[in-house]
Amino acid sequence: MRHRIAVVGSGPGGLTFARVLHRHGHPVTVLERDPSPDARPPGGMLDLHQELGQLALDKAGLLTDFEALSRPEGQAMRILDPGGTVLRDWPARPDDRANPEIDRGRLRDLLLGPLDVRWGRDVTQVVPWQDRGGVLVRCADGREETFDLVVGADGAWSRTRPAVSPVTPHYTGVTSVETSLDDVDTRHPDLARLVGDGSLAVYGVNRALVAQRNSGGHVKVYAQFRAPLDWHTGLDLADVDAVRSSLLALFDGWAAPVRDLLRHGAAFVHRPLHVLPVSHTWTHVPGVTLLGDAAHLMPPLGAGANLAMLEGAELAESVATGPEDLDGTVRAFEERMWARAGRWAKITTAGLERLVSPDPAQALALFDRVHPS
Ligand SMILES: Cc1cc2nc3c(=O)[nH]c(=O)nc-3n(C[C@H](O)[C@H](O)[C@H](O)COP(=O)(O)OP(=O)(O)OC[C@H]3O[C@@H](n4cnc5c(N)ncnc54)[C@H](O)[C@@H]3O)c2cc1C
Repeated sequence: MRHRIAVVGSGPGGLTFARVLHRHGHPVTVLERDPSPDARPPGGMLDLHQELGQLALDKAGLLTDFEALSRPEGQAMRILDPGGTVLRDWPARPDDRANPEIDRGRLRDLLLGPLDVRWGRDVTQVVPWQDRGGVLVRCADGREETFDLVVGADGAWSRTRPAVSPVTPHYTGVTSVETSLDDVDTRHPDLARLVGDGSLAVYGVNRALVAQRNSGGHVKVYAQFRAPLDWHTGLDLADVDAVRSSLLALFDGWAAPVRDLLRHGAAFVHRPLHVLPVSHTWTHVPGVTLLGDAAHLMPPLGAGANLAMLEGAELAESVATGPEDLDGTVRAFEERMWARAGRWAKITTAGLERLVSPDPAQALALFDRVHPS
C-alpha cells in the first residue's frame, strides 16, 4: 500500500526527505509557504559533513553532483584578534572532502530537481485525526487535505510542532546581525584578501565578527554579540545607516580592516539566535513527526542543515523500503533522531558559549581542538 505522505517545508531537510522518497518511486506532497523558490535570498554557504549532509546526498543519489558544485577551498579558516593580528591561518587542503561548502541556492536547486513542490501553501495547523482516517493539514488559503503521515520540516517557528509538542524556541542571549558584500574581488580587493577563500573570524569580549566567502565574489558577514533581546530599542532596524553606526560603535577599537567589513555592508538582517531545549523530545503522536530545526533548533554552528538532511534521508529510506508498519517506522526514526540531535545540541550550545564569551581565548582553544594543526 502506498502511504499518503506530506512534508511541510522545502528547506534542506524537507527537500532531502522528498527527494529520497522520489528516488524510491514513492509519491510525496511538498507544501511550502514561500510563493516560489527565489522568493527570499537563500542565505549563506552551508558546510556539509561527510558523515551527515553528504551521506544524505548519497542516499538521494546526488553526491557526485554535489562534489561538482561544492567549494572544498571554503574550508580555509583564518582567526584574527580584534587588533588585526593573525592568530591562526589554516588553508584548505585541496583533497579534503570532509566539510566542503555549498551555496544554499545551489543545494536547493540540486535537491529540487524533478520534485513538484506546492509553492505558496502556508500551513497554519496540523491536526492528528486518526479516527477520521488520517492527519489533517490546514493552509492559510482555506485548503485542507488529509495524509497518513505529515512530516514537519518547517523550521524554527514550525506550525507542525504544536501537533506533537507545546515547546517553543527561547533566546540564547546572543544576537547576530548579518550583512554582505558583492563583487568583493573588484570592489574591495583588500577585504577579499583578508577573508581569503574560506572564513575569517575575529573574537573579542562577548562579541565576534565572522566573514565567509560565498561563490560569485559574495561575502557574508555576521556580527555576533551578547545582548538582551531588546538591545535595539530606539534603533530603527530598517535604517541601514543607523544599524551600521550602532554596529561600528559596538566594535569600536577593532582594527580598521575588520570594521570595514561592516562599513561596506549593503544591508543588515537582524537574527537573534533562538534554540529549542537541548534533547527536545515528545510523546509520539501517530501520523505526525518533525525533523530538522522544527525538532531541534540549535545554535548555527555547522550542524543544523546536516542533521535535517540526514534525518530526511533516513526517514524517507525507511518509509520507502521498510516494513508496512508506518507508525513503527516513524517511532524508530524519532528515537534515532533524538539521540543524535541531543548530542549535537550539547556540542553546539557549549560551542556558542565559547565563541561569544567574556574570554576570547576560549574561542581559539575550541578551534585548536577541532582543527588539524
Ligand atoms: C547564519 C547561519 C549559518 C548556518 N550555517 C550552517 C552550516 O554551515 N551547516 C549547517 O549544517 N547548518 C547551518 N546553519 C543551520 C541551518 O541553516 C538550519 O539548521 C537548516 O536550514 C534547517 O533546515 P530545515 O530544513 O530543518 O529548516 P529550514 O531551512 O528553516 O526550512 C524550513 C522551510 O519551511 C518553510 N516553512 C516555514 N513555515 C512554513 C509553513 N507554515 N508552511 C509551509 N512552509 C513553511 C520555510 O519557508 C522553509 O522553506 C546555519 C544557520 C544560520 C542562521
